[in-house]
Amino acid sequence: MCSPRPFLEALLICVSLLSVFEAPPVAAQSCGTAGLAVQVLGSGGPELQDKRASTSYLIWDHGRALVIVDAGGGSALRFGESGAQMSQVDVFLFSHFHVDHSGDFPAFIFSSWFEDRKRPLPIFGPLGNDIMPSTTEFVHDLFSDPHGAWRYLSEMVDPGAEGSYKLQPHNVVAGSTPVLAFRNSDMAVYAVRVIHGAFPSLAWRVEIGGKSIVFSGDTNGEGEGLARLAMNADLFVAHNAVLEGATGLERRLHMPPSVIGLITANAHVQRLVLSHRMLRTLGKENETAAEIKRRFSGPVIFANDLDCFPVE
Ligand SMILES: [Zn+2]
Repeated sequence: MCSPRPFLEALLICVSLLSVFEAPPVAAQSCGTAGLAVQVLGSGGPELQDKRASTSYLIWDHGRALVIVDAGGGSALRFGESGAQMSQVDVFLFSHFHVDHSGDFPAFIFSSWFEDRKRPLPIFGPLGNDIMPSTTEFVHDLFSDPHGAWRYLSEMVDPGAEGSYKLQPHNVVAGSTPVLAFRNSDMAVYAVRVIHGAFPSLAWRVEIGGKSIVFSGDTNGEGEGLARLAMNADLFVAHNAVLEGATGLERRLHMPPSVIGLITANAHVQRLVLSHRMLRTLGKENETAAEIKRRFSGPVIFANDLDCFPVE
């Protein structure tokens, strides 16, 4: 289509077309190939106006994307921007099934269908109750024939169907003592139950190469489980969804900075990352950090999308 034009004009048009069609919309922002790291795929909560993807995290180990924790809206795009491949992922973990933690899951899965993945993908998350599905129900409600919303992908959950690798969802029965949910040659993954109103929820600990990373998920901080799970963690990712002094529903669902600080200190965590940032907490970082630092003397960092935190 460039040839009928005079040479210079045609060249300029070809160059501009090449730049349109060949340049990626966002350069890959991988955590690189060195060591263990957590990349924040989504640092926001449910609100779209925060201009952040909703909750999701990716654990890299020597350039391989091994673990995904949660899949909030926008995080599938961030996963693509990170340069990761779904075929690398060993395990998918869910804290709970609020939309801001699970809404992009079908996008991750349909993308993976185009990769050359052969091995099954284990998926771990909480049990259900009368207001939330269990992990197995969640996956089957999405993909199973005949009632799944995206039953055209039922070959991914039907053991007898040919043509695809398989999703393997598991419900984790957890209390306030850490329970082993998954282990392979690279990692061990533990969970505790945490309190997030009436919504069944888990916090996760991933141990790789002698290092440990803990994700609080959404919780109001009640009970001893989270501090036990986070004990001596190298990196603790906690959710900064409310301000100090929060009351009512906000407080029944989420932990204020003082509680984050107390749990982080009691667990002797090395480094704290604050994520799940919301419109009500954005711009209040100084007062939030001050409340935490009254109790925890280590580093406190506020996360943004695609931030990479090496675990050393
Ligand atoms: Zn949330």
